[in-house]
Amino acid sequence: MIKIKNKEDCCGCSACANACPAKSIVMKRDDEGFLYPSIDLSLCKRCGLCEKVCPVLNQADEKAVMQKLYIVQNKDDIIRKESTSGGAFTPIAEYVIAAGGAVFGAAFEDDDHFRVIHQYVETSRELWKFRGSKYLQSEIGNTYSQTKNFLDSGRLVCYSGTPCQIAGLKAFLRKDYENLMTVDVVCRAVPSPLVFEKYLEVQKRTLGDNIKKIRFRDKYYGYSYSTMSIYAKPESKQKDYHRGIESDLWLRAFFSGIIIRPSCVSCIFRKSFQSSDFTIWDCFNVRKYAPEFDDNQGTTRLLIKTSKGIAVFEEIKKSFRWKEIGIESVSDTGKERAYSEATTFHRDEFFLDLNSQDPEKVFHKYFPYTWKVRFLHNTRYWSYRLGIYPVLKKMWNVMK
Ligand SMILES: Cc1cc2nc3c(=O)[nH]c(=O)nc-3n(C[C@H](O)[C@H](O)[C@H](O)COP(=O)(O)OP(=O)(O)OC[C@H]3O[C@@H](n4cnc5c(N)ncnc54)[C@H](O)[C@@H]3O)c2cc1C
Repeated sequence: MIKIKNKEDCCGCSACANACPAKSIVMKRDDEGFLYPSIDLSLCKRCGLCEKVCPVLNQADEKAVMQKLYIVQNKDDIIRKESTSGGAFTPIAEYVIAAGGAVFGAAFEDDDHFRVIHQYVETSRELWKFRGSKYLQSEIGNTYSQTKNFLDSGRLVCYSGTPCQIAGLKAFLRKDYENLMTVDVVCRAVPSPLVFEKYLEVQKRTLGDNIKKIRFRDKYYGYSYSTMSIYAKPESKQKDYHRGIESDLWLRAFFSGIIIRPSCVSCIFRKSFQSSDFTIWDCFNVRKYAPEFDDNQGTTRLLIKTSKGIAVFEEIKKSFRWKEIGIESVSDTGKERAYSEATTFHRDEFFLDLNSQDPEKVFHKYFPYTWKVRFLHNTRYWSYRLGIYPVLKKMWNVMK
């Protein structure tokens, strides 16, 4: 029976809960807002299946057979704008749906609840739900079991998620399926859903309740200026909110490392050769490979590692502006592929404060609006308004 002695040893993938034949395992939130398995001993049959499907206890022996690396931009401007980078995921998903398959990904629960959960769609018009990175840990729910049911019935399935979620799915399935296609995102870390709820509570105090959509890495100021956007419902009198990575409280908290899941600190799934068919991540230095692609609207690095992946790419590449780049440039940027996020010194104190004090006060205590933050925000904001932000950013990158 699964026992979590150290929180670092559980990535929260829910493979154990999906696998338990006695339904004795439920995923419960801890006081940091992350899910961990909780076992009802009166139901548990001690069959040990939960341990057999744990991707942390059963690390797959992975070898890269072949790898091809591309930079891609979706030719559909709307899809690309709604996506975090170049919009690589949608054509893969569309391919699966056109073949009668089901596509799993991370989406907001519904229009009014900004909990992020894994779910599946069966039509192309619903794929917008998965576009865009939601920077918090999504809940897997029973989607591994749903995937297995689809696969066993012979249906094509595309499952997307973080590397630990894909590892959890594969460990849960315990065999290879020809009709399964997996897409993982390079993942810096996943932050706490509880902290996000508190962040939204604080935001609603000034913005109001009428939120239509939230974008964690909006392209409002262009791709090179990561921005948190909160859009108001059109019928409300509320203003939209756009704040960059230097001043938005959520982005600052996430990128500081203080609110990430403990297992992300020494993530064992951050390997060079994941077992997914596709890995997707940002390409900020696109100019280096294709200056003609550098339009500040987003580019995805697309790493393909299986012949299945290559065959699909051949079918969907007409949806992209694309260029193959040498596999050696895989580690050019995106150090998140290889190195884990460091935790911060004040982490425990932060969560203690958050659970006992007014969240606004706590956010401002740890992420004060200092003169430096003000300066960075104003510089970025005004250079954007004057149309010189992309140029300044390029100069900054060259100087670094
Ligand atoms: C938590 C997280 C951390 C990331 N960290 C980095 C990083 O450090 N460096 C980097 O280069 N790229 C990172 N990415 C990936 C990057 O943000 C883009 O997702 C990637 O470049 C692909 O974008 P796209 O435009 O091609 O596709 P999009 O259409 O934007 O792709 C969205 C895909 O991401 C999945 N997804 C969205 N939110 C989540 C979530 N919360 N959990 C699991 N899956 C999710 C969707 O299911 C879908 O498959 C991260 C993504 C996430 C979700």
